[in-house]
Amino acid sequence: MAVTIPFKRELDYEYARCDEVAPNVRRVICKNPSAFTFIGTGTYILGKGDVAVIDPGPVDADHIQAIVDATAGETITHILITHTHMDHSPGTKLLLEHCDAKTYGYGPHGAGKIAEGVQVEEGGDMDFTPDVVVGHGDVIEGESFRVECVYTPGHTSNHICFKLLDDGPLFTGDHVMGWSTSIISPPDGDMKKYMGSLELLLERDDEVYWPTHGPAITDPKAHVRAFIAHRQEREQQIIDALKSGFERITDMVPSMYKDVGKHLYPAAARSVFASMELLVDRGVVTCHGELALDARFTLS
Ligand SMILES: [Zn+2]
Repeated sequence: MAVTIPFKRELDYEYARCDEVAPNVRRVICKNPSAFTFIGTGTYILGKGDVAVIDPGPVDADHIQAIVDATAGETITHILITHTHMDHSPGTKLLLEHCDAKTYGYGPHGAGKIAEGVQVEEGGDMDFTPDVVVGHGDVIEGESFRVECVYTPGHTSNHICFKLLDDGPLFTGDHVMGWSTSIISPPDGDMKKYMGSLELLLERDDEVYWPTHGPAITDPKAHVRAFIAHRQEREQQIIDALKSGFERITDMVPSMYKDVGKHLYPAAARSVFASMELLVDRGVVTCHGELALDARFTLS
């Protein structure tokens, strides 16, 4: 029986419009729709007067202008970065042409892996380094907002969620999204850490999540449990594929991802590899040769 995740994909939105989505929270969505971003990157504005911006988005002058227009007469004092993928952090440098804010994040791309001595892939925003490095439990205070940092590695090793205190939403970035599962792509992406970061959210009592992509998640725990179950189901599919004689990830993908287009197979293969790494780590699967996407795998 397949796990059903209660996704909501409908979202009525006209680009550049600023919506007040919760008390003290506004959102402007960038026109960068894709198979990975849904209708685009949602940039959040916290507070009134002196405000914080979460994830300015890609280098997109129209989007940055929309953020500037939405905060006319106000001052952006803080820019918070959930993680350094190209649709989240690169717009920071454009936004900084309009304000004098300080930037906050866990660290540069790969920060969580570099600390372990692992080299990460290209593809992240290598130019971003936060002015202020924040870690789990840190509180960022502005004139009109207080934000708690919740470190959630997995999607990337520097991913952080932001909780608007005291009873505001949790901004989940790409860790938990409203319209799709997250891409976990090694080596910077890490399935073991991702699963740990999902468990972490289950220990919390946030009432609503606002992800970067997609609508609000109003039943957070059910949603997170469904994500965990979905990954466990994928693990079982991998075990079944290995049992039936498939030894290469690229050969397993078409049967495991029957409902996705072929253009998404490379991303799917990286996701399968992320689960495979975890199965190897647990000793369920043996990797023959160097642990890599194109390696040969068998059940232990
Ligand atoms: Zn991302």
